[in-house]
Amino acid sequence: MGPTMKSLRFHGNRDIRLDDIAIPPVGENDVKLRLAYCGICGSDLHEWLGGPVLCPTAPHPLTGEQLPIAAGHEFSGIIEEVGQNVQKWKPGDRVCVQPILYDGTCVACKEGAVNCCQINGFIGYSCASTGGLADYIVVDEAKCFLLPENVSLELGALVEPLAVAWHAVKISPFKEGDWVLVLGGGPIGLVITQALKARSKCTVIVSEISPRRKEYAKQFGADYVLDPTQEDIVARCKELCGLVHVAFDCAGVAPALQQAILATRARGTIVNVAVWERPVSIQPNDLVFRERNYMGIATYVEGDFQEVLDCLEDGRIKPEAMISLKVKLQDVIEGGFERLIKEKDKLVKVLVEMNP
Ligand SMILES: [Zn+2]
Repeated sequence: MGPTMKSLRFHGNRDIRLDDIAIPPVGENDVKLRLAYCGICGSDLHEWLGGPVLCPTAPHPLTGEQLPIAAGHEFSGIIEEVGQNVQKWKPGDRVCVQPILYDGTCVACKEGAVNCCQINGFIGYSCASTGGLADYIVVDEAKCFLLPENVSLELGALVEPLAVAWHAVKISPFKEGDWVLVLGGGPIGLVITQALKARSKCTVIVSEISPRRKEYAKQFGADYVLDPTQEDIVARCKELCGLVHVAFDCAGVAPALQQAILATRARGTIVNVAVWERPVSIQPNDLVFRERNYMGIATYVEGDFQEVLDCLEDGRIKPEAMISLKVKLQDVIEGGFERLIKEKDKLVKVLVEMNP
């Protein structure tokens, strides 16, 4: 084995390890990054505690790889080496990386919905030695986006979750002047709130239980913050604005879905951004008799990363306060994954710091 690096990898259910693995070779269209920061995502926690769900237990159709799988998909780094065909990048460039993998040939990809590719994969869930929670990563140069000068490497690690929110708001029917309900004030609910406010004038109601997250929601621009354990969300929305035009469900629990549907006005839209652990039942008549729409959102497409970077550069989105804690790569399991489970309500985004 040549030079090695630390890489956090999923090995199986409740089994995540900081492994020593070989640094992959740099292909002719690849760049090698010295990783700087990587966020821990809610889906990483799900994969750790409830998986393997996203990680393949048989060879992945795109990567051919299976468990153990390198973790980390919200990351930034500095280019250290470029492949022989690479002209766009040079050592020292600061970048973030768009982690979705797709074949480019299926019916979804041909229509531009590369995020819905029939055999899609994800850096962080589909590759054995390509992950953001490591010392180095080798990726296709086309996946890199240059960080503007005034955007730090820390913020670079937030571009991926921000792109999820940006895409969700962009393809929803949300328009200027709308009343919007956001269910769940976790990281995704908070970035949705910021994306809504960055895109246009609107009134945002956030529904959240945790006192700390309620504070964050206000800080990130929510006009009203409601507590579903204290108030009737549907009745309050009716009182405030009739009913909302669009509801973003970032909670992924049955009671919130029911509230999202009933709090949305006739011909309004319920947008699901949450990832669900199990099936839930709804009464489709609640959609039928009010001509309500229900739509799903998955990650982002080409263009979303650059638009988020433009927002960070010109200050339309200011997500600094989302960073609750930074931990070193060697402490990622105890100080990152375990602490996020224990202090879920207190922490928004934990960033892992590489190459200290
Ligand atoms: Zn495809």
